[in-house]
Amino acid sequence: MTAIVPIQPGTLSLAAMHLRGGGLVAMPTETVYGLACNAANPDAVVRLYEAKGRPRFNPLIAHVANMEMAEQEAVFSDQAREIAAKFWPGPLTLVLPVAPTGTVSDIARAGLDTIALRMPAHPGARALIETFGKPLVAPSANRSGHVSPTTAQHVKEDLDGKVDLILDGGPCDRGIESTIVSFVGERPVLLRAGALETPALEAALGAPLIAREEADGISAPGQLKSHYAPNARIRLNAEAPEPGEGWLAFGETPYPGLNLSETGNLREAAKNLFAALRTLDTQHDRIAVARIPDEGLGEAINDRLARAAHRD
Ligand code: AMP
Ligand code: MG
Repeated sequence: MTAIVPIQPGTLSLAAMHLRGGGLVAMPTETVYGLACNAANPDAVVRLYEAKGRPRFNPLIAHVANMEMAEQEAVFSDQAREIAAKFWPGPLTLVLPVAPTGTVSDIARAGLDTIALRMPAHPGARALIETFGKPLVAPSANRSGHVSPTTAQHVKEDLDGKVDLILDGGPCDRGIESTIVSFVGERPVLLRAGALETPALEAALGAPLIAREEADGISAPGQLKSHYAPNARIRLNAEAPEPGEGWLAFGETPYPGLNLSETGNLREAAKNLFAALRTLDTQHDRIAVARIPDEGLGEAINDRLARAAHRD
């Protein structure tokens, strides 16, 4: 049994103690709950991959508390530094060349000479990284391929007994994973749409981001077609539920079910998405999902839904 504890000075020191001993601690972030371990400890990282059942070729994001920590791990171009200054702390991950002073283990980077870095905004995550004092790798705290956790209880449902401690920071504010941008090539490439809207990034860059599919030689491992998968079958862009289907609505609807946002607010829909999928999954074998507009945060929501619906 893994304990769920509130975030306080005492539980933060306990968590840091587990981390120093090579343990795994679930922590809240503004995107989803992360499963954290010492990024520099290869044994801890192996334990983390095993607890999640995550394929080893899928590299992890290293979470830092400040720019000093970030610059020790990665080489920032002027443009990358500008974007970090504007959007960090926040739900944005930057892929950068690894620095010679980098401490993150090879296994966490899946052997790449690049590294994914994020400075989370959640006070609980920041406090844990600061207390520990070094970068933490933290993929979502769920079994690989399953629906991401947005509450401490979700983490327990997936990983009870496999993690040393769960820090409870309440439900995640953003509800979907970070946006990932690579600054490794000539021009920035969008590797994953996420909680930071692409238009906000493009406005800051003054140019459109290159799509992953159009970028040559940029490695984007681990972006699997099937992911976030509930047990139920998912039908997307539905006008109405069919008999026997659970209904995941967006905006006004005459049908009973769960609603991502009655007012059609994408921010609210993102926040509710994974919890709603988990709930409907316990009640139905099939789920129909209303059409979500593909603009702003809708891009990231539709990406998650497409992968939840995908069957190999
Ligand atoms: P998550 O599964 O949410 O922890 O996000 C991790 C994702 O970040 C991976 O699946 C990769 O797609 C991406 N990523 C991490 N490190 C790198 C890297 N060095 N190069 C490219 N993508 C990376
Ligand atoms: Mg995940």
